[in-house]
Amino acid sequence: MFNFILFGPPGSGKGTQSVKIAEKYDLAHISTGDIFRKNIREKTPLGIKVQNIIEKGELVPDELLIEILEDAIDSFKGKAGFVFDGFPRTIQQAKDLDIMLNKRNNEVSLVLALEVNDLEIIERLLKRAEIEGRKDDTREVIENRINIYNNQTQPLIDFYKEKGKFKSVNGIGAIDEIFSSICREIEKVI
Ligand code: ADP
Repeated sequence: MFNFILFGPPGSGKGTQSVKIAEKYDLAHISTGDIFRKNIREKTPLGIKVQNIIEKGELVPDELLIEILEDAIDSFKGKAGFVFDGFPRTIQQAKDLDIMLNKRNNEVSLVLALEVNDLEIIERLLKRAEIEGRKDDTREVIENRINIYNNQTQPLIDFYKEKGKFKSVNGIGAIDEIFSSICREIEKVI
């Protein structure tokens, strides 16, 4: 199986590109942010638990991620692999993911980061706020999310570099150009 992690700061375009990658390579797209937002909309027990955390731009506790991921992984049968979008976001989550995949005789194949600077990210997220009205896209919450990304998520770069699985591409430009760069990296590996 091809298990792909699309990595990058909030607003780097992971969601947009993940959908295209999943379609082209017949992968199951797992977006933890989408799963949480769906649960919040449907007011499930999980949704009620995480709503406040997400609106503040904070990270949902790692234990909750494991449960969601196990369910999501097992609900896709017959796909060629996964594209993980928004997960893992902490070293603990990366270790949990390794355990989950190993149990299924699998492993992470490639981690690819979309490189986008802070200024561009803030601009994109503020624009998205006008269009989609996500509660976590206010300037204050955006800054919190970027700080959390820098402190808790960026250390994953070294974690995956040590395993020889980390690559990055420029995340600024036309959606299709960025998609082509991603595909070039994927095709070196599969
Ligand atoms: P973005 O990439 O734009 O920040 P996401 O849709 O990936 O947005 O995530 C939205 C929010 O959902 C995050 O700010 C966080 O509160 C929560 N979340 C999503 N994935 C995770 C995760 N792997 N660990 C902890 N919290 C998460």
